[in-house]
Amino acid sequence: MKLRLVAICGLLFATSSVVPAAATTVDPSTIIDYCGNSQTGVVQPLTSGMCLPNEYSLGNAPISRGDSRPRALIPQFNRRYLVAKAAARKAGYSLRITSGYRSYAKQNYLWNREVQKFNGNKKLASRWVLPPSKSNHPWGIAIDVNYGNGSRSGAKWLEKNGYKFGLCRRYKNEWWHFEPLVAPGTHCPAMEKYAS
Ligand SMILES: [Zn+2]
Repeated sequence: MKLRLVAICGLLFATSSVVPAAATTVDPSTIIDYCGNSQTGVVQPLTSGMCLPNEYSLGNAPISRGDSRPRALIPQFNRRYLVAKAAARKAGYSLRITSGYRSYAKQNYLWNREVQKFNGNKKLASRWVLPPSKSNHPWGIAIDVNYGNGSRSGAKWLEKNGYKFGLCRRYKNEWWHFEPLVAPGTHCPAMEKYAS
């Protein structure tokens, strides 16, 4: 695959006088999978099954809810985070999950507490904590990074670089909340104002 990519780049380079702007992008549909190294933070497009022993498949698509509720973060999402964490470390930032997977009961507790805080106004409460039926934390596909106990600059780094690992900040009002919304290397969608 590496060789093939080089060949493609060579081809694009050779024809760059004809198509200058689009020549640097690789059609994502031609990439079968990405591997990430949780020691070095390096992500590479590789053919499925060809990840090096110390690399993990990060997938080639957004990670969405499974068929049944998990009891931890979805493994592929966790791997994306670990590779991003290694890359952040290399860049001088530290990342830490302060809240990742939550049980349905825990999310329900947090939700009720938030509703109380907003004097029963569920609409306002849901901007900060979603009810357990809507939150992606109990589905194992949402993490809060460096919230409460960590540097905001680390989260800022992830906001800027997370797309390389398929991680996106989702809401404008929550700098700490990230989800695996895209395939690695694909740009994140525009942020939503807040959860609802
Ligand atoms: Zn969150």
